[in-house]
Amino acid sequence: MSLAFPNGVSSEPAADASAPSDLATRLETVRVGVADAARTAGRDPADIATIVVTKFHPISLIEELYALGMRNMGENRHQEAQSKAASLADLDLVWHFVGQVQGKKARQVRAYANVIHSVDRESLVTALASEESTIDCFIQVNLTDDAARGGVDPAHLSALVDSALMVPGVRLLGLMAVAPLGQEPRRAFAYVRELSEQIRQQVPTATALSMGMSQDYAAAVLEGATHLRIGTAITGNRPVLS
Ligand SMILES: *Cc1c(COP(=O)(O)O)cnc(C)c1O
Repeated sequence: MSLAFPNGVSSEPAADASAPSDLATRLETVRVGVADAARTAGRDPADIATIVVTKFHPISLIEELYALGMRNMGENRHQEAQSKAASLADLDLVWHFVGQVQGKKARQVRAYANVIHSVDRESLVTALASEESTIDCFIQVNLTDDAARGGVDPAHLSALVDSALMVPGVRLLGLMAVAPLGQEPRRAFAYVRELSEQIRQQVPTATALSMGMSQDYAAAVLEGATHLRIGTAITGNRPVLS
């Protein structure tokens, strides 16, 4: 470290290629935030996967994230996800589909996604069944009164878990949820954790929790999240669609 700068010479790093990009800086900020929350919770940060939600962003951003060491990418629209996964097939990326899945598109999503976070109904479980391969899935729980938001009503969760257990080729990792607006996220995540404890009586291996986004990932880590889905805090604002 340099101790002295001659008069008139700024100590600010120059904006050259060796300076960290804004993307790298935001990524590091999130990494530190996750590590801090993990420490507070007495958890090992290595047990928490950060999925970068890259929806609406160009392929070049995913390539930059890859160069920065990120491997888990999240997308929420089928056509966009399918085309990105095809373009980047040479990279060892793990694709997480986090959006609502139309029944008639289920098999196509299954073909490129490594993990589907949004299984929320029996007909989708049936559509994802396969004798040839296994797809890792989360069941999404809806914490709002608005069915359009996707996710199963907690009252029907146990029955949906049973149906997933009955079909071949669908492996349940755990539960996924989005904290409702205008509610304390930590309480919402604590509730998902309780639901998770309940379904483990049906599927002891379904221990994962996909919860926590840019605004509430620290609360999610405190409540046991294993998979964070983080968009804007890492990527910056999403481009506006024309
Ligand atoms: C877009 C999205 C995210 C990321 O949201 P940010 O607020 O940008 O972190 C996480 N989960 C789902 C299901 C999403 O659609």
